[in-house]
Amino acid sequence: MDCIFCQIASGKIPADIVYQDEEIIAFRDINPQAPRHLVIIPRKHIPSLEQLKENDSALVGRMVAVANKLAREEGVAQKGYRLAINCGTEGGQLVPHLHMHLLGGRKLSDTLG
Ligand code: 5GP
Ligand code: ZN
Repeated sequence: MDCIFCQIASGKIPADIVYQDEEIIAFRDINPQAPRHLVIIPRKHIPSLEQLKENDSALVGRMVAVANKLAREEGVAQKGYRLAINCGTEGGQLVPHLHMHLLGGRKLSDTLG
């Protein structure tokens, strides 16, 4: 599997990992778009939101819970932050492994697209 995020999850490619458990791993984005920019992924290779199965819902719920915990740890929970999942080409998804962005540490853009 040449998926870059699978390789980060398995430790084959180094990353600044800030959280990991049996199902989820989070690391600092290599090209941060904000002072705090984390990427939260499932270890399981799900290509995108579009390929999400009904029984993956709990996993996505856990990703949100991990993101919220990390937002507190990163010190952005009080002032606010953004969670974003890009899906597909027009949604701006470049890495075909489901991931959630956690952005914070500055006033983010008022527009989403
Ligand atoms: P997407 O555009 O697919 O939603 O976001 C992919 C994100 O992954 C981008 O923000 C990009 O900077 C980040 N990224 C891509 N490759 C790597 C990598 O090898 N290491 C890390 N830490 N982040 C990466
Ligand atoms: Zn993958």
